Amino acid sequence: MHELSMANAMVKTVLDVAEKNNATEILEVTIEVGQLTMLNPEQLKFLLDVLVENTLLEGSKINIEEVPVEIDCKTCNYEGLPNMDGSDHYLAIVRCPECGGRNLEITAGRECNVKTIKIEQEDDADASGSE
Ligand SMILES: [Zn+2]
Repeated sequence: MHELSMANAMVKTVLDVAEKNNATEILEVTIEVGQLTMLNPEQLKFLLDVLVENTLLEGSKINIEEVPVEIDCKTCNYEGLPNMDGSDHYLAIVRCPECGGRNLEITAGRECNVKTIKIEQEDDADASGSE
């Protein structure tokens, strides 16, 4: 249940940020999930929907963005999408499409974080009384 612990952590992060900013409502959250995290976005979405019940996040729009894997090849200097053998997302099968090498650095695809949070704030901090 890799997804469950990640979903839990994400909900906690968002609620933490919302609380620190005196949010009265969370409008929208965008979460980045890299392909190499091996998280299943649909399962993650499902778990998030369950976890947000009875929290400030209930009813918020939750976007999950999948981040494709990108590599930086040390052999031929190719940068971009790797050649990944079909079925799995394991690191071991990520190869450079130019030279077929594995001497490469993964520059994207391992993200798993809350990218943006849109909140509604209490406006009592504004004492100008511009009503
Ligand atoms: Zn290469």
